[in-house]
Amino acid sequence: METSNFVSQLRSGARAKFPAHANSLEYARKLDEQDPLKHLREEYTLPTRGSLRKRHLNGTLPDGTRVASLDQTAQAESNTNGCGNGTNGTNGHADDDDKPCIYFCGNSLGVQPKAVRRYVNAQLETWASIGVNGHFQSLGSPLVPWQDMAEDCARRSAAIVGALPSEVVIMNTLTANLHLLMASFYRPTEKRHKIILEWRPFPSDWYAIESQVQWHGLDPTKSMVTIQPDEDFYISTDTILWTIDEHAEETALLLLPGIQYYTGQLFDMERITKYARDRGVVVGWDLAHAAGNVELRLHDWDVDFAAWCTYKYQNAGPGAIAGAFVHERHGRVEVEVGAEDACGRPVFRHRLTGWYGGDKSVRFNMDNKFLPTPGAGGFQLSNPSAIDLAALSGALSVFDKTDMAALRSKALVLTAYAEHLLDGIFADQPADDGKAPVFRIITPRDPLQRGTQLSVLLRDGLLDQVGGALEEAGIVCDRRKPGVIRVAPVPMYCTFEDVWTFMDVLRKSVA
Ligand SMILES: *Cc1c(COP(=O)(O)O)cnc(C)c1O
Repeated sequence: METSNFVSQLRSGARAKFPAHANSLEYARKLDEQDPLKHLREEYTLPTRGSLRKRHLNGTLPDGTRVASLDQTAQAESNTNGCGNGTNGTNGHADDDDKPCIYFCGNSLGVQPKAVRRYVNAQLETWASIGVNGHFQSLGSPLVPWQDMAEDCARRSAAIVGALPSEVVIMNTLTANLHLLMASFYRPTEKRHKIILEWRPFPSDWYAIESQVQWHGLDPTKSMVTIQPDEDFYISTDTILWTIDEHAEETALLLLPGIQYYTGQLFDMERITKYARDRGVVVGWDLAHAAGNVELRLHDWDVDFAAWCTYKYQNAGPGAIAGAFVHERHGRVEVEVGAEDACGRPVFRHRLTGWYGGDKSVRFNMDNKFLPTPGAGGFQLSNPSAIDLAALSGALSVFDKTDMAALRSKALVLTAYAEHLLDGIFADQPADDGKAPVFRIITPRDPLQRGTQLSVLLRDGLLDQVGGALEEAGIVCDRRKPGVIRVAPVPMYCTFEDVWTFMDVLRKSVA
């Protein structure tokens, strides 16, 4: 058994050929032994079955680490009874309460990297110790002065999304960045006013697009074009290209997700970007489910702009500071020396501006002459939160220990293994009970058209039963009404054994 064989099979777009005994726990454990990234799990604090039942702070992390607690009473109690498993407010204490839970929800909120706590604490110490001087002074590596943190995080994020360091900016949140980027990149004219999107964008993307259209005084029913999927919720590249063709002359912007959040479908960003741009359409990607999940080459693909959040596959924490990409060609700042202005006038792509988009050399001149930082950094508005950046910096420190190729390789096998076990459960169902199949996978079977996530559409009425069984087993997994569970084994901290155990619970819950 060689995991690397599976990787090459899957990377060529083939199915991985698992042996007959692949559905045994021993086999899953063997895959874990061979996993070159298995050490990364140690970088994270996963909830435990016990900690998931926690109802009050008690100053104890799931792994038993003591931390300061806001709730002094709970702290005192916990000190006296010596309970170190991070639970409280519960009666029983089962043997496996202290074991890390199965966390397949990294597509919604990644688990906490231990480095986030260290980095945030270090910034709190810096602030307490040197106050305002922390803007330009650091108390030691790996931290940099607050003023340089956004740039430092941008440089490290660039490796994750396949960009030049100057093409990435770390700022705001995802939806805010979509708005700022559309303010610069969606410039409708009477002729070209449409935005092409997909049938079921994440609601926030829909609202952002719809309100941008209205902001320009246009009618969403005329200016928003939605691409429809087939009966399996699948959107083929041909359908997308065909839609572009149909509306090319009237389209100002194509804005799609790199990975569709509901089905987990990964789009052919390279081909779609080229096709649209060749027809004069500006191309933006929402990479909420793609950044940190799959390999991206935004620069080489010639994408115009992109935006992503960092709390899903990048584990920077709830509502963490977000990232954006602006292609090099849009970030240029040239100085035009005109007759009427001997000092020269900077020429740059129009955007909504704030002082932190201003070049550092003149930012503090306070003279109201805006000269943007070249590159994506010129799209910043405000002095970013050093605490937010510390959290992201800590989360990225784990990415610094590996790379997207290695993470993707493991993810391909993890997800294929999950699919293999799901197919086994399916095959064991009685064929002739006259009911609809217990579930179907609505994520593409082609490993190159998906990330880690498998979306499993359950038979009507099964969601509560299955969801209840998963919860009972201490498994964290996303449910979307009416009947989808989104299973996302994340390569950073999930194991093959997790996948096996998850499927064992699922099998029993649909029996
Ligand atoms: C998670 C997600 C969001 C969330 O937006 P925020 O601005 O970070 O709250 C938006 N769009 C997509 C596609 C998402 O997956």
